[in-house]
Amino acid sequence: MAFLASRLSRINPSATVSINTKSQEMKAAGKDVIGLAVGEPDFDTPEHIQEAAIKAMHEGKTRYAAPAGIPELRQAICEKFKRENDLEYGIDQIAVCAGGKQIIFNAFTATVDEGDEVIVPAPYWVTYPDLALLNGGTPVIVEASVEADFKITPDQLESAITPKTKWLVLNSPCNPTGSAYSPAELKGLAEVLMRHPHVWILCDDIYEHLLYDGAKFATIAQVEPGLYDRTLTLNGMSKSFCMTGWRVGYAGGPVELIKAMNMLQSQSITSTSTISQWAAVEALNGDQSHIARNNEVFKERRDLVVSMLNQANGLTCNTPIGAFYVYPSCAGVIGKKTPDGKVIENDEDFVVYMLETEGVAAVHGEAFGLSPFFRISYALSTDMLEDACQRIQRACASLT
Ligand code: GLU
Repeated sequence: MAFLASRLSRINPSATVSINTKSQEMKAAGKDVIGLAVGEPDFDTPEHIQEAAIKAMHEGKTRYAAPAGIPELRQAICEKFKRENDLEYGIDQIAVCAGGKQIIFNAFTATVDEGDEVIVPAPYWVTYPDLALLNGGTPVIVEASVEADFKITPDQLESAITPKTKWLVLNSPCNPTGSAYSPAELKGLAEVLMRHPHVWILCDDIYEHLLYDGAKFATIAQVEPGLYDRTLTLNGMSKSFCMTGWRVGYAGGPVELIKAMNMLQSQSITSTSTISQWAAVEALNGDQSHIARNNEVFKERRDLVVSMLNQANGLTCNTPIGAFYVYPSCAGVIGKKTPDGKVIENDEDFVVYMLETEGVAAVHGEAFGLSPFFRISYALSTDMLEDACQRIQRACASLT
């Protein structure tokens, strides 16, 4: 009898986490590696947020919290949703988890039955399909092309919906492409969803504040209030507040779903770290001027990376309006030979080649459901990005 549960065979390790771990190990072993694989801001957590955590520890706020989260944080989240997204949630409609990933884990575990379908537009963040699969669900992948700016159309959504559809996952600005739906484009998708009342929407807004060139953020329950009763609006502290390691994600949604998610949490981690939750209270209620400052830097880095990648033989890169990722096409290097005589057959071969020859860690597009592309996170110092892009240019120039 096999020891490991059969459900494990349905999923793979997270490619983003695995490649980041590998590049950290290579660095620790003294190798000259530039990690562009993981999406995490290189900025420190703002000082006042750190101070709030230290204060919480000194005040003895170090005990278990309720699975739903400390009331002060849930209240701050309600106010954030109202202030920034025109969404009215009561405190009992808020879930607080150890990162956005765990919100999805709890939501799918609470709702996805064997055979339920989860529509996931591709390119997608690696975790969505696997968490559907883990719970016996069937991911239904809808491909968005680079020509469509990596966004799906209302017609594509309409054709993907079946009586078995349980969830649609929306993520805008998007990981891995940095594309974002305009309010009008979201409205177009919402019109389709209004015709299919059995479909729930997981709206992952984790990159909400990371938008450039004057782009305006919108979330689906805001553009179509008729979807409010079947939308889980997901957000978190990791990206805009530079708090990846603090592990605080949150969501607003219908009471029944939130209750079920909190029940699961009571039987797993109890709650995310109380100290991190107090830091998150300060982050949401306190000064947020770092966001605009960081965005200026991210925008400059995006422009640098896009320009340098477009100068690499065989690569083409569009200019995304959000997040801190670019998703260049490497179609022009497929079929070429490395100096060792190995043929680059696909985007995975290409990222392995870049890592082995130039010490640049990126994630292959196949992991995100659309090839031949690769993802680069540009949340890294400008000097390192320049160095990394020069290495990529060199790697491409060496292919014949
Ligand atoms: N969301 C980030 C990424 O895509 C963090 C790693 C992960 O959880 O996948 O790189």
